[in-house]
Amino acid sequence: MEHRLDRIKKELHAQGYKLTPQREATVRVLLEREEDHLSAEDVYLLVKDKAPEIGLATVYRTLELLTEIKIVDKINFGDGVSRYDLRKEGAKHFHHHLVCTECGSVEEIMDDLLEDVESIVQSDWGFLVKDHRLTFHGICQKCQDRICRNCEAKKLAAK
Ligand SMILES: [Zn+2]
Ligand SMILES: [Zn+2]
Ligand SMILES: [Zn+2]
Repeated sequence: MEHRLDRIKKELHAQGYKLTPQREATVRVLLEREEDHLSAEDVYLLVKDKAPEIGLATVYRTLELLTEIKIVDKINFGDGVSRYDLRKEGAKHFHHHLVCTECGSVEEIMDDLLEDVESIVQSDWGFLVKDHRLTFHGICQKCQDRICRNCEAKKLAAK
């Protein structure tokens, strides 16, 4: 975590920004909760635990700055809430998401999987792909198991 914080600090410096204590508190929350796809309010509440004097506007500005310099990606899973997602180190393109319509869980796919599609887009449309957003909506493994068990239970009850 210190190593990644350091990289982010260098990235900020390279772009002419400082890692102020407020920005550091925000970045730490993002690193600690990397799996969680937090909204600005979520981040704010967690940052406030560490730095009670910090305001929502400051956290929001930090998140926007981190988005601008591509340390963070902003993503919306269709529920109207903007969420902030740390870019994976060394990843050329944004990772994909599997959003469960039953329980709302979000899983990440780190492999790009789109190289073939990207080259078709480039050759057929002459469009140079720089990035992409891919969200699959469906039913996660756990929910499939749960739904399936319910089916079994119903079948048994009907007998
Ligand atoms: Zn993600
Ligand atoms: Zn890609
Ligand atoms: Zn689920």
